[in-house]
Amino acid sequence: MRLTPRPGESADALALRAAVVGAGAPLPRTVVNTHHHGDHTYGNSVFAPEALIVGHDRARAEHLAAGHQLEMIWPATDFGATEITAPDLTYSERLTLHVGGTDVRVLHPGVAHTTGDSVVWLPRQRVVFTGDLVFAGGTPFLAMGSLAGSLRALELLRSLDAETVVPGHGPLTDASAYDSTERYLRHMAALAAAGREEGLTPLETARRADLGEFAAWRESGRLVANLHRAYVELAGEPEGAPLDIPAVLRDMTVMNGGTPILCHA
Ligand SMILES: [Zn+2]
Repeated sequence: MRLTPRPGESADALALRAAVVGAGAPLPRTVVNTHHHGDHTYGNSVFAPEALIVGHDRARAEHLAAGHQLEMIWPATDFGATEITAPDLTYSERLTLHVGGTDVRVLHPGVAHTTGDSVVWLPRQRVVFTGDLVFAGGTPFLAMGSLAGSLRALELLRSLDAETVVPGHGPLTDASAYDSTERYLRHMAALAAAGREEGLTPLETARRADLGEFAAWRESGRLVANLHRAYVELAGEPEGAPLDIPAVLRDMTVMNGGTPILCHA
């Protein structure tokens, strides 16, 4: 089937729509954003306005505030002509989409990976889409979220009792991913408490830390970003309080041996 280009549509967006249709899948009528990060939302403009974009109230606000966030972090990468397209249907606690015979429950777990996360739960199929609350085999990233909130979000995920866990990144998994994520978060929290007690900066704490079983996880240098988050929570700042993100990224570059964090786009 040949798709008609929309006015002003980029070749990249048209090619992506054509690839979806070519694979035999219908174009979506509804798209749920699990949070505002660009690697989860830059495709919105491909499917809107025909598709309704759904997200948490705070995901919309963060999305509009972040703008072309990925180009700011990786100026040398060509992300194509992306139009910032924030959710046009937002909610505060939960909503249910009825897609044919499938109930799709969209739940806000509180501040966790970001301030505007959504978990998508299909109760009959027992499938949960965690967004970036879970990175299977990858390091959590709390720079824009909360440590205490991430631990609470894992409790919410456990309570759903899903059979299949679709993580934000990494292969399909199951509830065992909650346990390893929790072990990481508690290990990191202990490192933060000890480092802060000794008067070390998050970077100094990260550089002398033993990550143990988590050293092999992808993006292990995120440790320093997570320590920044843990430090501000130990100082009594509210969950999700904004960090100095350029400073956090600079520390991540140091952890990465002086090379900026990799972009896989
Ligand atoms: Zn994310």
